[in-house]
Amino acid sequence: MKEVKIEDKEKYLKEHYPFENIPNLRDQRRCIHCDRIFTIGDYKVFIDEDDEELIYCPYAPECDGTLIDWIPVDYDYK
Ligand SMILES: [Zn+2]
Repeated sequence: MKEVKIEDKEKYLKEHYPFENIPNLRDQRRCIHCDRIFTIGDYKVFIDEDDEELIYCPYAPECDGTLIDWIPVDYDYK
């Protein structure tokens, strides 16, 4: 995976977030892959093996969670 440096994280998120209700950069989420809580604004962008540019968990590349693996901090998924 190759990391892509994002200059304007708010703009990038707005343009690439695949769902409605784009979260605020100051919001917190839990990543279900590494089970860590992070601030959205710390997200990273990587180009994966399929040449796809994806928004990843801030703990990537150790964690392979992308934004579809982010859940609200108080959400009990177990
Ligand atoms: Zn993670």
